[in-house]
Amino acid sequence: MELASNNPNRKSWLDIPEGSDFPIQNLPFGILSKDGGPKKVGVAIGEYALDVAALYDYGYLDLNMFERKHFQNDSLNDLISLGKEKNRALRERISHLLSTETDELKSRTNRDEFLVKIDRLDMHMPVQIGDYTDFYSSEEHARNVGTMFRDPAKALLPNWKHLPVAYHGRSSSIIPSGQDIHRPKGQTRPNDQEPPVFGPTQRLDIELEMAFITYPGKPIGQSISTSEAEDHIYGMVMFNDWSARDMQKWEYVPLGPFLAKNFASSISLWVVTMDALDPFKTQGPNQDPKVLPYLEYEGEKNYDINLDVFLKPEGGDDNHICRSNYKYMYWNMAQQLAHHTCNGCPINAGDMMASGTISGPDENSFGSMLELAWMGTKPIQLSDGTERKFLKDHDTITMKAHCEKDGVHIGFGEVTTKILPAI
Ligand code: MN
Repeated sequence: MELASNNPNRKSWLDIPEGSDFPIQNLPFGILSKDGGPKKVGVAIGEYALDVAALYDYGYLDLNMFERKHFQNDSLNDLISLGKEKNRALRERISHLLSTETDELKSRTNRDEFLVKIDRLDMHMPVQIGDYTDFYSSEEHARNVGTMFRDPAKALLPNWKHLPVAYHGRSSSIIPSGQDIHRPKGQTRPNDQEPPVFGPTQRLDIELEMAFITYPGKPIGQSISTSEAEDHIYGMVMFNDWSARDMQKWEYVPLGPFLAKNFASSISLWVVTMDALDPFKTQGPNQDPKVLPYLEYEGEKNYDINLDVFLKPEGGDDNHICRSNYKYMYWNMAQQLAHHTCNGCPINAGDMMASGTISGPDENSFGSMLELAWMGTKPIQLSDGTERKFLKDHDTITMKAHCEKDGVHIGFGEVTTKILPAI
């Protein structure tokens, strides 16, 4: 796919700081407000956000495609509901307006009505999330967890290489970067010889994930094939799927994750479109045994996205505790969506589907503290001299994600969350 917006040589007339996550080749979408004003659709460019509602008001956008409500809105849902073609056209138009190829926008004297420094804005949840599904698609993660909790020889359950395992979660507790969470309470059974107890989790953990947001799907009863999947995926965010391992261990049999997972998941604020990610497509792992025909796919469906996790103790510095990559995923998004809809289950614009914890082959590429500290047997050493098996109160977790190719760096910003004591 050759989109002008993805040309590595395209330059913006705005100064973009070296190494910025938001060069003209990215143009992620979010929801912003200024000085307590109404929420609007914005696009990140360098240190600025472009007010897309202002672009519409001054006549820069195609009136046959868009209405004001698509940009003056509390979420991206109405815009996403327009589907892939119009959203692609919008990003291409914005890319042109911000490029050195035209001075239509550059020459305006009221440029500050269009462009505001991101650090002077309030950012909000980009999407009103409909249904939320969490997959379990990293082989290394599934093997690690299977090895710790079950027999290492049977780390993967028999279904794992035949279908992308997933569960339905809650969208009500998905929160934006910057919002603190309280340590959750629940039921655990610390000692198998004693009755269960109720209280704050003692094993609060992260899960390093990415999530994709859907375009409209098909009516109930119809399926989306792997070759159609890309027409139904709008973009991606970082996703920290907070987990309470002690609650999880006690509750998960036989129906799977429940309260150990649904107290909070944190997402990054800018949605990076699949169009922006297209140049970073890469080959996925070889799938053996061969998958069933409805899960077969053609071409490159994985993405080379570098992932980093930092842990900052109260008053301390960021400690880089994990470097992983989205490309390690065994099951790709097209297969996840094809599987999710193979029984006729419909998806809607604004649904969110998370990858599952993304672990790589090396010990420092594991995407959870459960794996990094190997069930508490190898505590993570921090620069302030303390160590962690799981998270302490007042710890802050930051995740970052970026792609690099042909001299272009695009990123997702960050997702940052601080742990507060249980209420
Ligand atoms: Mn998860």
